[in-house]
Amino acid sequence: MDCDWRRRFGEVLPHARFDEPLARHTTFKIGGPADVFLDARNGGEVLAALRLAREARAPVFVLGWGSNLLVKDRGMRGLVLRLTGDFEVVEFLGGFAVRSGAAVRMPQLAVACAKMSLSGLEPLAGVPGTVGGAVAMNAGTRDGEIGPLVTEVSAVGAAEASARVIPRSDLRFSYRESSLKDVVILSATLQLKTADKGDIMTVVARNQQKRLKTQPIHTYNVGSIFKNPPGRFAAQMIEELGLKGHAVAGARVSPMHANFIENFAEAKASDVLALVNLIRERVRAAFGVDLELEMRIVGE
Ligand SMILES: Cc1cc2nc3c(=O)[nH]c(=O)nc-3n(C[C@H](O)[C@H](O)[C@H](O)COP(=O)(O)OP(=O)(O)OC[C@H]3O[C@@H](n4cnc5c(N)ncnc54)[C@H](O)[C@@H]3O)c2cc1C
Repeated sequence: MDCDWRRRFGEVLPHARFDEPLARHTTFKIGGPADVFLDARNGGEVLAALRLAREARAPVFVLGWGSNLLVKDRGMRGLVLRLTGDFEVVEFLGGFAVRSGAAVRMPQLAVACAKMSLSGLEPLAGVPGTVGGAVAMNAGTRDGEIGPLVTEVSAVGAAEASARVIPRSDLRFSYRESSLKDVVILSATLQLKTADKGDIMTVVARNQQKRLKTQPIHTYNVGSIFKNPPGRFAAQMIEELGLKGHAVAGARVSPMHANFIENFAEAKASDVLALVNLIRERVRAAFGVDLELEMRIVGE
């Protein structure tokens, strides 16, 4: 990688930050530094940043709210790009459709839609990430995922010079996965339906209350660590093994929800990884099941 690229990056985009600790930008409060960190405020800044990274052959990672990420302790090489400004806008298009900037937070979008009597996002109202992260991850709950609501996505690939619209027919969604890899999602259009505003708000409030009772949402965590294997619940297996509260240094299995890991005392990514490995080994030995990660691990 060209060693002058950070200087050039700073000349073109002076608000870029260097060696920015990613622990500041993840809900786990864990993660080493990013070589270059940019809050891109508009399409021009996204394209300029991608061009500079491309010229320097630097890898690009798109960060949302950091609510599904374990960033390793040595951090991330290349560019970490986060969207702000123009990407925080919601447009109601008529015909019960909404176009949301990728940086809008999911709970805010759900409430904004409820106020417009638009139903569909109630299951996602408690998912703390951004719309970009939700679409990339096909975020969801037992009551529904975002994928089926998406009619088109505006995105730009790291190797591309302009944004393009990806129609529904070219999008694929599965359990916490989408076909949107190696692109920066700029906005997503969702098709909702109309319903009574009060009824929608009641469901949103009920879902949020349920989370308060069942999830350690006031701790540093990233939601579910493992996907549920077909026909089983990861949390149930981990709980049956008596692992609730089990700690490795500053990381512990949540005493409240066994599929959550909490950073309760300045945990390092290596502590979380050691705990993840321990859980996987115990679950494999006891149940013959290989737990797959829902959380994404990035960095070095
Ligand atoms: C308390 C708690 C509860 C949770 N409950 C749920 C739940 O019920 N259901 C659920 O599905 N998840 C849940 N999560 C996990 C998380 O909130 C979701 O996965 C969320 O969709 C991630 O969005 P994010 O913006 O934080 O993405 P990040 O964690 O920042 O990134 C996740 C992935 O998305 C990619 N990404 C992010 N933004 C973009 C973009 N603009 N363009 C391209 N790629 C992008 C990243 O590169 C990365 O690969 C929970 C998390 C917490 C902390």
